[in-house]
Amino acid sequence: MIVARDAAAARRAAADLRRPVAFVPTMGALHAGHLRLVDAARARAAATIVSLFVNPLQFAPDEDFARYPRAFDADVGALAAAGVDLVYAPEAADVYPPGFASAVVVAGPAHGFEGARRPDHFSGVATVVLKFLHLLAPDVLVLGRKDAQQVAVLRAMLRDLDLPVEILAVPTDREPDGLARSSRNVYLAAPERAAAPSLRRGLGLAAERFAAGAGVAAALAAAEAAILPPLSVEYLAIVDEAAFAPVEDPAAGALVVGAVRAGATRLLDNVAVPRA
Ligand code: AMP
Repeated sequence: MIVARDAAAARRAAADLRRPVAFVPTMGALHAGHLRLVDAARARAAATIVSLFVNPLQFAPDEDFARYPRAFDADVGALAAAGVDLVYAPEAADVYPPGFASAVVVAGPAHGFEGARRPDHFSGVATVVLKFLHLLAPDVLVLGRKDAQQVAVLRAMLRDLDLPVEILAVPTDREPDGLARSSRNVYLAAPERAAAPSLRRGLGLAAERFAAGAGVAAALAAAEAAILPPLSVEYLAIVDEAAFAPVEDPAAGALVVGAVRAGATRLLDNVAVPRA
């Protein structure tokens, strides 16, 4: 496995890989969910690239950029053991040198939900992913369904900007009690961790009720009632997975999405509405 610490080395190493190439962007602090993405990448492509980069552009000034968990040596070890071909782990100053002045503007599915609470977040995600796609030129972009709005935003970007890259969206990997794995779960205090699986339970209940014919309001009320303190709901909604706009009727591709606050930490999750 090659570990490239700058863009020139990454470009050279990526160009030598056998095609098709799959690319898994991450912020490191890897957990079993990230490794599921790597497994999916390896099953789909002849070579796999993983980036480890805590992207400052996608954090607001009041967010956790400085304290976001970093575990470079453990991450590199786990990726080597998982059969990854190339790791790209640049410094922020290499990705955004002095004078950096450009960004991707994203609308459509970037509006609302995470986009409303984190105004520059999806532009920051789209900008870094576009840069890495240009540098590494993969055939497949591997993303987790846990961040469903991110998948919708990046799908729109690839389409709108004519990038010949296919998205492989991988199901959410969960703890045994149902909590979606996340690098931020380490922030949870014991009472928050104990209540955390109720987010997934609530979303699942809403998805079942909605599929069975309950209206949106009734389905979401069931979710709200199932989510336990000290979690506090930021939003709950039923959306189309591509447009990320609210839907009124169960349709192919509908998702129940939710975000809760657990102390200083936000937890996100989503559950697909079962098809009739
Ligand atoms: P992050 O390091 O949090 O930016 O996540 C990197 C990629 O891993 C994104 O595509 C996430 O959606 C995906 N991911 C994070 N957690 C999970 C999970 N529990 N299951 C599946 N994919 C995940």
